[in-house]
Amino acid sequence: MNVRTKHIPQHMLYLNGVTVSFDGFKALNDLSFMVAPGELRAIIGPNGAGKTTMMDVITGKVKPNTGDVFFRDTIDLTQHDEADIANLGIGRKFQKPTVMESLSIFENLELALAGNRGVFKSLFHKLTFEQRDRINEILQLVGLAERQHELAGALSHGQKQWLEIGMLLIQGPDLLLVDEPAAGMTDHETAMTAKLLREISGKHSVVVVEHDMEFIKALDCPVTVLHE
Ligand code: ADP
Ligand code: MG
Repeated sequence: MNVRTKHIPQHMLYLNGVTVSFDGFKALNDLSFMVAPGELRAIIGPNGAGKTTMMDVITGKVKPNTGDVFFRDTIDLTQHDEADIANLGIGRKFQKPTVMESLSIFENLELALAGNRGVFKSLFHKLTFEQRDRINEILQLVGLAERQHELAGALSHGQKQWLEIGMLLIQGPDLLLVDEPAAGMTDHETAMTAKLLREISGKHSVVVVEHDMEFIKALDCPVTVLHE
């Protein structure tokens, strides 16, 4: 995808009147919100309020019963499947980190950069100067530059989350969805994560789902509230 020729949309993400029912139970009821290019937005709500379901709708895993879901103004996400949507430029960070523990931090980023070229091919493929530069840039951003040669398995829970955010960013998404990143983090890691997400926005639109109020405050961004 050539970024320079892409026009800048008015709304990176647009949800209007989205309702999801599971056997008559409304997991999401008439949800509407918008995200501008480069905007950071938090979605808060108690357990069971439908936060993960909302992400499932945006990423094509769940089809809404009613409502509109548009990406970059004109792309109707309800008409695309999960694989399509990932390729359109929407990255999703699940609650549990899924880094490859037996590979180094650098190698994890190398694999993420290669996309689905396969582990063997990626790791034995010589990196270009630009690719190496890009990995170093992400390592700096997520604060893991000094540990890049260590195994990912040696990282703390919080650091694994940052590495995984880096692995999504290296693929250059327009929109990054992050599900409860502060869960299981120390207070310091939580504060660092808020700082990281603020840094990432601007270049990328970011939607963060959370119920930790300290973290939400630290994000210092517009908030949409989901009720049970
Ligand atoms: P949150 O992430 O805010 O904690 P969820 O989106 O996971 O909330 O769930 C919202 C509600 O929908 C919960 O009551 C949950 O039990 C229900 N739910 C979620 N997914 C399904 C599903 N696939 N089938 C039936 N009910 C579901
Ligand atoms: Mg959830």
